[in-house]
Amino acid sequence: MRVLTVEDEPKTGNYLRQGLIETGFVVDLARDGLDGLHLALTEAYDLVILDVMLPGIDGWQVLAGIRKAGKDVPVLFLTARDEVDDRVKGLELGADDYLVKPFAFSEFLARVRTLLRRGGKTKESAFLRAADLELDLMRRRVTRSGQRIDLTAKEFSLLELLLRRQGEVLPRSLIASQVWDMNFDSDTNVIEVAIRRLRAKVDDGFEPKLIRTVRGMGYVLEAGE
Ligand code: CA
Repeated sequence: MRVLTVEDEPKTGNYLRQGLIETGFVVDLARDGLDGLHLALTEAYDLVILDVMLPGIDGWQVLAGIRKAGKDVPVLFLTARDEVDDRVKGLELGADDYLVKPFAFSEFLARVRTLLRRGGKTKESAFLRAADLELDLMRRRVTRSGQRIDLTAKEFSLLELLLRRQGEVLPRSLIASQVWDMNFDSDTNVIEVAIRRLRAKVDDGFEPKLIRTVRGMGYVLEAGE
């Protein structure tokens, strides 16, 4: 699941991003309205989390831009306590839900899950597949040949990324930024270890082998030749 968070306040933005990543989401964080709108229109997200007061253009304008472009991605608004009247405005403009700051992460996550469930029915399939491997995005379950495979949150995110971009060689730097939120200079041994563990769970005892290392380039998940 891919989530766009638009939040200019570094502390809140990083807190939300970190929490969502630890829960197993792939997260992009935009620090101002224009960046947020640009990402929302050019990338495919399952959910957008939108702060109201943003530099550049505000949350209302970002939401209006998203809806004007015909995107029906669920939008969760974050409003400050003194902007409570604005909630009504947000819902009128096509926000799907709102949350008043400050909030507990558990409540935030519950809202996120509800919106994703609601959105999942009308949007893209909630399953990603390759050969007999199936990843259920809503129930966060993975099976191969019908057998349940238990993955950690990170392994799930990693597999989701590989499945979404099947056939594409993904460089370690990309995996690091998308799944671990680390930058290019970080210790990429973490990724090698995670890929090895993931491969043991997904490919050992099954044919065809789906996850391959492309020497010097990265990793690819492919079902066929
Ligand atoms: Ca703000």
